[in-house]
Amino acid sequence: MGLATDGGLLVSESIPSLSEDTLLGWKKMTYQQVALEVMSLFIDDISRQELKVMIDDAYSRFTHPDITPLVRVGDMWVLELFHGPTLAFKDIALQLLGNFFAYILKERGERIKIIGATSGDTGSAAIHGVRGRPNISIFILHPHKRVSHVQELQMTTVTDENVVNIAVEGTFDDCQAIVKTIFNDLEFRKSHNLAAVNSINWARVLAQVVYYVYAFLKLMDHTEKVYFSVPTGNFGDIFAGFIARNMIGSRIGRLVLATNENDILTRFIQEGRYVRSRSVKSTTSPSMDIQVASNFERYLYYLFDKDSQKVREKMEAFDRGVDIEVTPEQLRKTREEFESVSVDRGLTSETIKSTYIKYGYLLDPHTAVGFAAAQKLYERLTGGEIICLATAHPAKFPETVQDAISALPPVPVSIKKLEGMPQKLVVSQADVNEIKLIVSREIGKGERSIA
Ligand SMILES: *Cc1c(COP(=O)(O)O)cnc(C)c1O
Repeated sequence: MGLATDGGLLVSESIPSLSEDTLLGWKKMTYQQVALEVMSLFIDDISRQELKVMIDDAYSRFTHPDITPLVRVGDMWVLELFHGPTLAFKDIALQLLGNFFAYILKERGERIKIIGATSGDTGSAAIHGVRGRPNISIFILHPHKRVSHVQELQMTTVTDENVVNIAVEGTFDDCQAIVKTIFNDLEFRKSHNLAAVNSINWARVLAQVVYYVYAFLKLMDHTEKVYFSVPTGNFGDIFAGFIARNMIGSRIGRLVLATNENDILTRFIQEGRYVRSRSVKSTTSPSMDIQVASNFERYLYYLFDKDSQKVREKMEAFDRGVDIEVTPEQLRKTREEFESVSVDRGLTSETIKSTYIKYGYLLDPHTAVGFAAAQKLYERLTGGEIICLATAHPAKFPETVQDAISALPPVPVSIKKLEGMPQKLVVSQADVNEIKLIVSREIGKGERSIA
């Protein structure tokens, strides 16, 4: 479930804490084993054995044996989260979410149609998360010829029957508007059992908590404290870090929240006011181009001492155009938990270049935002090791990398092999009715409604 029935977001009632002994006991575990331990603490409606099968299956499609390897780069670490099928960190959650959906639908004897709009990254990760799964069809709208070549191939070379790529003659905004209109047609939504693909599903956050714990376990014998620097858009990834920090305690230091020029969260941490930007700025780290951060509400719940009524009031007022302001006491607390820096495109590019020259390591532009922020704050992150989350493979953003280092990033095999593969897509006008027809046509047999 994405949104809760009252329009709010779901959070865990309590956050379990992990004792030093427990952590020591997990130290030698594989990623999949850590995932099973961490997620079991939050899940009571799937048996441990079934959960294990789903975890093992989800990560069998990753190309690195460590799933999320930790690499030394200069005097910091990089946690590579891009070894999944679409080379971005969203695979870590969406591969597992696909299994969860399939499991629950099978149990209930139901089918769903997932529909979503994408400017590139989320759509391809979602497609790869549910391809070939029974009881699910997925319809992803992307702006025709306006996503990058790699992104297009990652979506359209998936020829499974349950995947429908709709290339819309229009912009990403047109795609989004169409999806919204279709969702607001309650009758259509119900008769087709539509589900959304978005970043607010709690299961996605949970899957992301795992790599923070896993990375901590790798360094826990070598250092007193670990800091994480997180390139942030919708606050999903760093919110998972916030949960992990609450589970592990003071051995995880302040989280570094790195933003690009879309800096609503940086302004909040510096000034204690959450003020909507006038518009979204287009940057070289497009997956972080946001106006408001859809998961931020979850943090407010904890900041307001789990007073959900207060969160509701603040969020409703925010939707009417009122800024969210916190008390000096709350701001002090936030600053014990987070540091924040906004990194512009110039510094992003310089960071890609200098890291490549100095250490021979190539950062993608999103990762570079987090890496630059950690470098800026280096003197303040004392007494521990710094881990920068690498959220995408540089080959996904060849133009930006080329601008920075005057050479193209090496192309990984998983991208190379997409060239020349058969592609499947339907081109459509930016027209709601035409797209509704496509969605209806692909209706599966025995479809039933979740009443
Ligand atoms: C989605 C994304 C982000 C931002 O993650 P949030 O959870 O939205 O903060 C950063 N980098 C890449 C490559 C992404 O795809």
